[in-house]
Amino acid sequence: MTQDENKVVVFIRRPGANGIPTVDCFATESCPEPTENELTEGQCIIKSLYLSVDPALRCMMNESTGVNYISPWELNRPIKGLGGIGEVLHTAVNCQLSVGDLVTSADMIWPWSKRFVSDDKAMKKVNLPNDQSPSIVLSCLGMIGLTSLLGIQKKGRIDPSKKQTLVVSGAAGACGSLAGQIGRLEGCQLVVGICGSEEKCEVLVNQLGFDAAVNYKTPDVAEKLKASCPNGIDVYFDNVGGLVSDVVISQMNENGSVILCGQIAVYNEDLPYPPPIPQETQDALNQRNIQRDRFTVVNYPEDFAGGLQLLGQWVQEGRLKVLETVADGIENTGQAFVDMMNGRNTGKQLIKVAERNG
Ligand code: NDP
Repeated sequence: MTQDENKVVVFIRRPGANGIPTVDCFATESCPEPTENELTEGQCIIKSLYLSVDPALRCMMNESTGVNYISPWELNRPIKGLGGIGEVLHTAVNCQLSVGDLVTSADMIWPWSKRFVSDDKAMKKVNLPNDQSPSIVLSCLGMIGLTSLLGIQKKGRIDPSKKQTLVVSGAAGACGSLAGQIGRLEGCQLVVGICGSEEKCEVLVNQLGFDAAVNYKTPDVAEKLKASCPNGIDVYFDNVGGLVSDVVISQMNENGSVILCGQIAVYNEDLPYPPPIPQETQDALNQRNIQRDRFTVVNYPEDFAGGLQLLGQWVQEGRLKVLETVADGIENTGQAFVDMMNGRNTGKQLIKVAERNG
């Protein structure tokens, strides 16, 4: 066995539609090293540099995902995750990529393997300034950044002249930490985050420029939120759903907007998506004419190129800060997923698989 033996993460146990995912749902196994000889026209060998773990993977652990754009994982099969960044190691004839190219998946799907064979069409080349880590494609300059930006732009109805208050739940996570900053850049006057620890609250206020942050795991969340949002809440970027969202919506102003991005608080429950909300919350939405629209980033492909350009510009100018929590080694991917579901990440949870050669 060599130290750099090829490895793959395999899905070995379903947590059950109402179960909590644990690290024993995953196993890391040795697998054959892809060779140049096996490549067919247009193919290449990719070396994974970073893997993304995402809340949406939770529904892929069930027998049915409940959504039409992602399929469930099969038991005892290598896992395909929802994002990765890698480097091209070898190319076959007529491959549109070159050795050394930095690539991410064209369709989000990325095998949880150190090295694997891919069609060139399944990958797209990424050009990054030399001083940026490839990981930023997963933590900001890709689906995560686009979710935050387009969620705000398409569903936030932000009007700088109205001096709006934005509240973000899951605020110290990948999407949330960007959404709060983007809401400010787009013109919100007051930005308040809700997250699960005092350390995270401190990061939001001291590093990312949120005006205030509330730890939802402490008592009197409603009172603390009210004190932080004296003029009520106009825009709510909702990453979590559940009780936190009921509290936020109860404090929203007339004609407000809820960006229904995700509902992680109930991902371990067998519920349709979006999950039902209490009648009292529905009444508040109706009586105050609050728009609450489901937002799905994959519905806006025509906005991706412009969105990525804007995000890249903000990062370069230092106006958008990107936080990452990086676990080392592919064998820690399952643990990193479980940790992220339990709130142990600040910013984007990633797995570093290898250094870049090229
Ligand atoms: P995060 O980096 O935010 O990680 C998940 C976070 O959720 C944890 O860090 C934890 O933070 C929080 N959390 C976990 N359980 C609960 C709970 N019961 N109640 C409240 N918070 C909880 O993940 P992402 O940024 O990748 O995703 C955020 C949301 O955005 C998810 O709901 C995801 O499904 C959604 N999403 C939607 C997309 C779309 O197109 N609509 C695209 C991508 C993501 P804490 O310590 O604060 O509890």
